[in-house]
Amino acid sequence: MKELTLLMAGLIFFHAQGIEARNERSKHERLPDPPRSSNLSSEQPAAEHALAVFYVVPSDVAYERSVHQRIIEATQDVHAWYQCASGGLTWKLAFPEIVRVYFADHTREFYRDNGNWWGSLLAEMGSKGLPIWSPGTVAAVWARGAGFWAGAAQWCGIDCGVALLGVEMFPEFNRSEWSGGTCPGGVGVGAWPCTPDGAYAHELGHTVGLPHPYDVPSTHDDAFHSVMQTHWNYPNFAFGSESPWGFLTLERQTLRSNPFMHTDIDLFQLHPGCDVVNLPSSGEAPIADFQLDADGLVLSTTNLSQGGSLYYWTFGDGSVSNELNPIHTYGQSANFPVALRVSGDNSVIDLAQGEAALGACPSFIAKVTINLGPLANDDALTLLSTLTPSPTSNGVHPPTEDVTLWVGRFHTTIPAGSFKPAKGRQLEFDGILQGVNVKARIRPLGKSRFRITVDANGAELAGLESRSAIGLTIGDDSWCGAVAVE
Ligand SMILES: [Zn+2]
Repeated sequence: MKELTLLMAGLIFFHAQGIEARNERSKHERLPDPPRSSNLSSEQPAAEHALAVFYVVPSDVAYERSVHQRIIEATQDVHAWYQCASGGLTWKLAFPEIVRVYFADHTREFYRDNGNWWGSLLAEMGSKGLPIWSPGTVAAVWARGAGFWAGAAQWCGIDCGVALLGVEMFPEFNRSEWSGGTCPGGVGVGAWPCTPDGAYAHELGHTVGLPHPYDVPSTHDDAFHSVMQTHWNYPNFAFGSESPWGFLTLERQTLRSNPFMHTDIDLFQLHPGCDVVNLPSSGEAPIADFQLDADGLVLSTTNLSQGGSLYYWTFGDGSVSNELNPIHTYGQSANFPVALRVSGDNSVIDLAQGEAALGACPSFIAKVTINLGPLANDDALTLLSTLTPSPTSNGVHPPTEDVTLWVGRFHTTIPAGSFKPAKGRQLEFDGILQGVNVKARIRPLGKSRFRITVDANGAELAGLESRSAIGLTIGDDSWCGAVAVE
């Protein structure tokens, strides 16, 4: 009976995208079709409420690195967008490599013809011990060959969910013989149905309990402002009456009470300028306000907001924080837009914006070489530089000071106390920092100059620009500049 109650409580949202006409915006089907391989009764520990993303390769289809990489990028994109659009909450990713590959037992045709992917593929994955319908996990399954198919459901009460999407939605990977359609090649609504990132964000919304707002009286009138109705506007293609666009106030309230939405998730914020959507009007707004103080590359904040219970800072360099008064160290000397989103208990948001104007820092001239590996988190970086502290510096003391290196989005901090003396008056560090194997050596060159070499292995460096910002901080000494990445 318990099983039956759970089945009745669940709703499955299918977005038969290939069939549905775009202008029938609210007509997604809802089918009360239960998962067949529910393992709710199994003894799996209710883990940390994480998002497990899979790239599924049917047995008659080749693995494609470019598909794998694109699903990683889509995940990073949606991961960041949720954090901004929700006012500071997002997913915890289950896998360090972000997207795990599942080589499936059967052919593309098998899954299509036996349960239309949802009924066949998910059951198979669950039978292999993968976290499908597993308490503590939302699984996002990108299946090669599933065409424009997209659907999702919340389950286990609110403790699990699954989203299933076809890889052919990515225009560059569409195969008409598999999807039954072509990609129109536009942007925003003009790209539909090949709007994979928006569909991804939308289906994940269903897994954490968000319905189509058009179908709910309290959100009906504002529905087209939501990713849960007009996902083709993702991330910022909403115009006219559909702007501002993102999550509605009542949707953010649902997200805040869902265990899969976490604060303090460190990521690179690709969408710092997401809209503030206080629709429908849900009571008084908090007041966002702050003061900034820059000292070298270090920015101190003073939060002067009122009525807030959730804070979300973006620092303009991709960095984020949920702290009340964060201190942020930049990787280069420039002016950065800083924004603070404050949410009240009612999830109404106020936004305050300012600018971090950093003083110049001594230039950092370095030779940087990067080797990209075939998979995620298998890239290598080497750096060589000779540095002189500024004339006012009291010197550098790497054994007792934090040493932080930035190259583009990559950054690593060797904590104070980690550098050890080695032969020739050198200082050495060799260890693993956040999954990256880091070897660093500092060698004095006369009175104040020194040479630093860093080898980092097992990092994720894809997407580094050929010319990247670079920075080094040792205690209160900083160097910054830009570097040509080889
Ligand atoms: Zn939907």
